[in-house]
This record gives sequence, C-alpha cells and structure tokens, in this order.
Amino acid sequence: MIENPSNWAGNYTYRAAQFHQPETVEQIQELVVHSNKLKALGTRHSFNDIADSPGDLISLEHFNQIVGLDREHQAVTVEAGVRYGQLARWLHNEGYALHNLASLPHISVAGACATATHGSGDKHGNLATAVSALELVTANGDLIVLSREKDGEQFQGAVVGLGGLGVITKLTLDVSPTFEMRQDVYENLPLAELEEHFDELFSSVYSVSLFTDWRNAIFNQVWLKRPVPDNVSIKLDPKLFGATLAKSHLHPIATLSAENCTEQMGVRGPWYERLPHFRMDFTPSSGEELQSEYLVPRRHAFKALQVIDQLREYIAPLLQISEVRSIAADDLWMSPCYKQACIGIHFTWKKDWDGVRNVLPRIEDQLAQFNARPHWAKLFTMSPARLQSLYEKMPDFRQLLEHYDPQGKFRNEFLDKYIFGIS
Ligand SMILES: Cc1cc2nc3c(=O)[nH]c(=O)nc-3n(C[C@H](O)[C@H](O)[C@H](O)COP(=O)(O)OP(=O)(O)OC[C@H]3O[C@@H](n4cnc5c(N)ncnc54)[C@H](O)[C@@H]3O)c2cc1C
Repeated sequence: MIENPSNWAGNYTYRAAQFHQPETVEQIQELVVHSNKLKALGTRHSFNDIADSPGDLISLEHFNQIVGLDREHQAVTVEAGVRYGQLARWLHNEGYALHNLASLPHISVAGACATATHGSGDKHGNLATAVSALELVTANGDLIVLSREKDGEQFQGAVVGLGGLGVITKLTLDVSPTFEMRQDVYENLPLAELEEHFDELFSSVYSVSLFTDWRNAIFNQVWLKRPVPDNVSIKLDPKLFGATLAKSHLHPIATLSAENCTEQMGVRGPWYERLPHFRMDFTPSSGEELQSEYLVPRRHAFKALQVIDQLREYIAPLLQISEVRSIAADDLWMSPCYKQACIGIHFTWKKDWDGVRNVLPRIEDQLAQFNARPHWAKLFTMSPARLQSLYEKMPDFRQLLEHYDPQGKFRNEFLDKYIFGIS
C-alpha cells in the first residue's frame, strides 16, 4: 500500500478506494479482471487528477527492471515503472543514449510517455516519440503488444494514451550511441531580440531553454545544451543576442542554490547529466509548486510570448519561474505536437491554487488565437469542449479507447470530462 496517497507536489490527493503495488504481470491481470474501475500510476508527478481512479490504483513501482538492449536494432526494453534517471545511467554504461530527457530524471517512462512529456530541442520530439513498442494489460486481462512496425495508426494512437488503454507493463524505446554534452548559461536576454532571432537561437544547439520570472520583458537565463565531440574545443562568445555568458552555476530561480542543478559552465559530461536541469540524487525543482504549460505552434512563438508579456502584472506575483522550450512535430494522436512543431510555455507557480486558478483563464484566452494546447499532466482551466476541438484525432482516440476498454474500466473523471465530454 502507498502510505501517502497524494501526488508529488502534494496538491492532489488521490481518491481511489484501494492502492495496489503488484509485483508480477499475473497479479496485474488479476487486479484488472476483478476491478470495475482502475488506473495505472507512475511516479505521481502529474499535477491534476489524470492518474486517479474512483476504484483501484495500481502503482508500477515494482516494475523497475531494464529488460534488455537490442544492439542490432538500437532499442531498449524496460518495465513500465523504470525512472529515466535509472535507465539513462544504465544505457550510458552500455554505450547508448536516449534522444532527450525532461527537466527532471525522476519520472517513470510509462507515466511520462502517457502524457507526452517533453524536453527541448528543435530536432527532438517529445519522449513518447522514442517508443517503438508497448506491452499492456487490457480491460479483459489480456496481455497484448502494440508496435510501431506492426500496428501503424493504432500504435500512434496508443502511445500518448493518458492511461486509458490499460496498464502498460513494458515499453521499447529507440536509442542511439552515447554522447557527451556541455551546458552553458547566458543571462538577461531581451524578449525583443526574439522577434528576429527566435529560430536562430533555438536551432543553434541541441537543446535550448529560456527562463523568465516575467518581471521584465527579459529572459533571465538562456540554457544551451550541446554535444561535444572528442577533441573539439568550443570558444563561446561572451554575448548572445544581448545576453551575457554567466560566470557561475545558476538555478533557474536565481535566489536558489544551483547545488541540485546539472553542471553548467561548459563542463563536459554524459548526456544524461546535462539534458535534465535537475540532478537525479537531489530533490527536483523547488518542491513547493504548481505547474501549467501551453504548447503553441512554433510559427506563433514570438507573438505568443508577446501576449504573455502583456499579462506580466497578473503572472509575476504568482510565479516562481517560467520556461520556454521547443519540441519537434510528431505523429502521435494525442500529442500536443501532432503534425506541428511547438514551443512549450511553462509556468512553475507558487503553491497558491486560488490565485493560479484566476490567472489561467487570462493566459488561455490570450493563447486561444494560436490554438494553444495545455500539457495533459499540468493544471489548466480550459473547457472540455475547447480542448476536444483542438485535437483532430480526438474522435479516433475515443474509438480506440472504446475498442480496448468497452466498459470504461480505465476511465476516470479526467478522461470522462476531457476526452468523452461527460461531466
Ligand atoms: C518537478 C516536475 C518537473 C516536470 N518536468 C517536466 C518536463 O520537463 N517536461 C514535461 O513535459 N513534463 C514535466 N513534468 C510533468 C511530468 O512529466 C508528467 O506529469 C508525467 O506524466 C509524470 O510521469 P509519472 O510517472 O509521474 O506519471 P503519473 O503522474 O503517475 O501518471 C501520469 C499518467 O500516466 C499514466 N500511467 C502511468 N503509468 C502507467 C502505466 N504503467 N500504464 C498506463 N498508464 C500509465 C497514468 O494513468 C496517468 O494517466 C514535470 C513534473 C514535475 C513534478
């Protein structure tokens, strides 16, 4: 049994009647067969009720083994509860890498992929784009495998599955040869510079993140992450579009110690110790927080940032930090980046839901002109009808859920409301 039935941030207490931590696939199958309502739970990092169930919650905590590496096909198979931090270290030791990571390595692979979790990088899709096969227990207790190779469109619908298709027990992910990276930070980039230089900046290296507290029309920090091949020395300009190269390690929230952040200042290190902002062995982020994020089609990037800038007076008092990232287009039906490259405009809020709840509709109103889509696992106030209208594959996704789960065992309030429009 899970002792504390709340999510990582502590802003949501699960309402499930029972919590289970099965150790075998057979136990999962048994639980699924005997339950009317259930849902799989990863590492509980989502900020809303997407992972909850009125009946049973099945934690995949014990499914934390790496099953095997297929060197010929450059693929790794993992149990669903494996955390990225654990997988990344193991892969590096075997000579391999994942294409990207989120800001923190503590999240489970299944949970992250189910909600289209992403890092940053013009050429890099969200983490779910690396999935080439899923093994899952469906509503009648069957163990099935869906793969990119064999299941075509259905597979594209299943990967960002929001926990609605069943309990994922294993995933196979694409890998590539391991590489070393460096991370460098610049300070104080004027927003105005992005009107001309957004694309140039974001395409300049492997992964770019901009951080701002929206107190001024300035990005307080620009984090640049790039591979460094052997024997290549890189000399950085002291200035970048008006920003200045930092002279010390920084936390995205300037007042916090950089101790729990991954190493900066151009120090070389393995990809998995540079792509996330936060180190595996430390508490990620600042802890007491809420998060929201909106994915905006890339072509509207600068205009979207301008409209957010106009809401500064409402946003800044509630904000810890805001981050802007870029994500490549993909083919996954429920990914906010389906068929369109996006930028993610992320907000790490103070833990003040009453305040945040009031400012989100302002942000959503302003971003509506760009058809911005909220991150599935973060906090938003958009109406279900509006959200449904933003996904062209929504009707197909509903059919897919009904196919694998005709009785709605894996449906919860979140799926009823935002996918099926039932409140
Ligand atoms: C500090 C912090 C930093 C974050 N940084 C980022 C970031 O950089 N980028 C980003 O995009 N997001 C980020 N997030 C959001 C986070 O990636 C998502 O909430 C993600 O879903 C968390 O994975 P989890 O394992 O905790 O999933 P959970 O919250 O436990 O579950 C999420 C969903 O996955 C489903 N699920 C989980 N396991 C299974 C399974 N085995 N089978 C079927 N369905 C399953 C659940 O049913 C639920 O629908 C961050 C969150 C926090 C708290």
